[in-house]
Amino acid sequence: MIQFFSGFRNSIVSLIIFCIAFIFISEFQHYWFAKINLIEQVLYGLFCITIILASYFNRSRLALAAITLFIFYLTLSHDVPWQSWVFSNGPWLVLVGAAVFSVLSVIKDRGLLSVHGIFRLILILVVIGGCYVWSDNADILIRELIAIKWLEPWLKYLTLELPLACFSLLLFWRFLREKSLVTTALLTSFCIWLGQYYQLVTLPWSVLLTLMLMHYLFAVVVDSYFLAYRDELTTLPSRRALNQLSLSLGRKYTLAMLDIDHFKKFNDTYGHDIGDQVLKLVASKLAQVKGSGKVFRYGGEEFTIVFPGKTIEQSLPALEAVRQAVQDYDIVIRQEQRKTKEARSKKKNSQVKTVSVTISIGLAARKSKLSFDQTLKLADQALYRAKKSGRNNVSE
Ligand code: GH3
Ligand code: MG
Ligand code: MG
Repeated sequence: MIQFFSGFRNSIVSLIIFCIAFIFISEFQHYWFAKINLIEQVLYGLFCITIILASYFNRSRLALAAITLFIFYLTLSHDVPWQSWVFSNGPWLVLVGAAVFSVLSVIKDRGLLSVHGIFRLILILVVIGGCYVWSDNADILIRELIAIKWLEPWLKYLTLELPLACFSLLLFWRFLREKSLVTTALLTSFCIWLGQYYQLVTLPWSVLLTLMLMHYLFAVVVDSYFLAYRDELTTLPSRRALNQLSLSLGRKYTLAMLDIDHFKKFNDTYGHDIGDQVLKLVASKLAQVKGSGKVFRYGGEEFTIVFPGKTIEQSLPALEAVRQAVQDYDIVIRQEQRKTKEARSKKKNSQVKTVSVTISIGLAARKSKLSFDQTLKLADQALYRAKKSGRNNVSE
């Protein structure tokens, strides 16, 4: 349960920032209202930056959402040939926006300037066409269904409200499943889109689009940061993040190098996939280290914990507790079985198994005139001693 919600941290933070920005813009209209012309001009630049950055950093779904919004804004604010056609079709437009955002939440981010990008553009055109056909022909379906007595009171919702409810459920489900900043940004865009249609939001489109694009940019920048500084498998900060931290450490700190014991043998026995699962779970235990320790995946099955401002004596209890916690951890793993006829009929093709591993820890405090790398080397030598003296212990 805790893991489920911790996966949401970034999404919730971005949602809160978006809400604060929205409330701020709504409440302090007098600040920006005089500058509305400037906002409208800047908006075009913002569209370009968002589309370029989102596609460069492989957030093509946000790039596609921005392209769709750009075409909408162009249609809204310029005398384009298709303007009257777009705005003369009642609920069609709100359906299009809702459908595009929810369909984007389902597909994967793939290069915009590739064959996948072309497929995605075609998909969006199909969605737009589908919405048009639906809103144009829903009446025919209603006439067919009106004979069914119990359906009759609901039929007035068939054209718009029912598809909107389906799209919102789909988007919300994707938001819960994916827990990414991209689906969060699509969800907020969806809310703004519906809010405008139902007049719950009464801000100019240029301001709302600025807010939406800022959210897209936020998602792109934060996601790129995590891509660079987080380890994908364990979600712990990576070695690059450790190097960054080393630049800001004071004179007093201790470093611990941790290594899973006999992990090669473990992989050979259970396979690399189970090894990966175990690495993830051990990392989640290490992340709970006390004593203000900061945990990093150093590489492979090795981890580093930094205790800023702490001595060896102050860091030892936290490390001893972590070592004990890993030793006591009965790790439940799922082993995929071959899909035999019997297993398939029982819908049961994975077997639950419990395993456990231990870790060895080497600890070193920074001494005067020693660099971060030299202190790390000392911790590594201490780790070697921990391995030599039988593993599953902490050595200084
Ligand atoms: P020791 O107790 O001396 O540390 O023995 P060890 O077998 O753990 O040490 P060694 O460094 O020889 O082997 C490390 C193994 O860790 C090699 C590799 O199979 C495994 N390993 C490293 N990174 C990963 C990973 O990302 N996933 C999996 N599944 N295994 C990994
Ligand atoms: Mg190793
Ligand atoms: Mg090892």
